[in-house]
Amino acid sequence: MEFIDLKAQYRAYKTEIDKAITGIVESTQFIQGPVIRELETELAAYLGVRHAITCASGTDALLLPMMAFGVQPGDEILVPDFTFIATAEMVAFIGATPVFVDVDDKTYNLNPDDLARKITSRSKGIIPVSLYGQCADLDAINAIAARHGLWVMEDGAQSFGALYKDLRRKSGTLTRVATTSFFPAKPLGCYGDGGAMFTNDDNLAAELRCYLNHGQAQRYHHKRIGINGRFDSLQAAIVRVKLRHFDDEVIARQRIADWYTELLKGKVITPHIEPGNRSVWAQYTIRTPRREEVCEHLKNKNIPTAVHYPIPLHRQECFRHLDVADTSCPISCKLSAEVMSLPMHPFLTRTEVERVATSVLEAIGD
Ligand SMILES: *Cc1c(COP(=O)(O)O)cnc(C)c1O
Repeated sequence: MEFIDLKAQYRAYKTEIDKAITGIVESTQFIQGPVIRELETELAAYLGVRHAITCASGTDALLLPMMAFGVQPGDEILVPDFTFIATAEMVAFIGATPVFVDVDDKTYNLNPDDLARKITSRSKGIIPVSLYGQCADLDAINAIAARHGLWVMEDGAQSFGALYKDLRRKSGTLTRVATTSFFPAKPLGCYGDGGAMFTNDDNLAAELRCYLNHGQAQRYHHKRIGINGRFDSLQAAIVRVKLRHFDDEVIARQRIADWYTELLKGKVITPHIEPGNRSVWAQYTIRTPRREEVCEHLKNKNIPTAVHYPIPLHRQECFRHLDVADTSCPISCKLSAEVMSLPMHPFLTRTEVERVATSVLEAIGD
């Protein structure tokens, strides 16, 4: 069994993907070919947002808006303590200070109460992460940001396609700017690295396009110090194919998540999705104090698992100098010790899900 079965996905769309790849190779328009704008138009239409701007990775997608906002040393940017490193890493990379906010005990997303407590006169922005495929509480976070004049950027690396409240509002459209990643393991992945930024702000969109292409507004006229953060045309062609199948995949992921929950509820802590939200199930992550035994048992049965994430960000070696106490983020500490993710992808069968669930129950002696 695969943790994420990209081979099954390739087999399912092989004709289309091979044709898309061949088309780019034959055109030789590898850098910023027309396929980039075609994909950006489709992504913007999918979300109902004015601008979708592709870039080289989900990490660059976090960096570029901070370049455009003029984030600088001394600025504090609030990030969840419980997420992938990139969210806080780019804050530090641009020279600012990440301020680690604890997460909610049920959704594992940024806790608005702790967020409000940690805002200071140096705060400039907030990067909520929509973890495992469910939107953070962006209304509450936007309201706090508005009171303090801060920008908000949703890190939607795991949540492209997620719906927030009333099953209508879309991840990627709910903050001043939002990001996603096309890393292969994400819900909408390519065959390498890639990412995108979404915004309704025309000026910001123009700045982002400038920064991601060496700060040039016009060829060889460099207005800003930027980076080479362009998305690759081959990868764009692959995302375009996968986008056509994406809604069906989200439905399949929901069905699989429902099976897991049906089989595991009450035995381990199963994921909590707020009413009105739709997760895209980037991960199906359970919580148990007996994680190590469960992981070991599943490994012996050739069932792959993963831990997202084993170390709270404030405890990472690269952030140790910030000297943040564990008591500042108790939920994040607890989750890091207890969460584990089960195989999750749209091609899992009921039999496979039953085999995984049975093995989990065996491990906890149920
Ligand atoms: C994957 C991920 C990123 C980084 O995306 P890359 O495309 O791998 O650079 C950022 N934030 C979160 C929450 C992620 O899961």
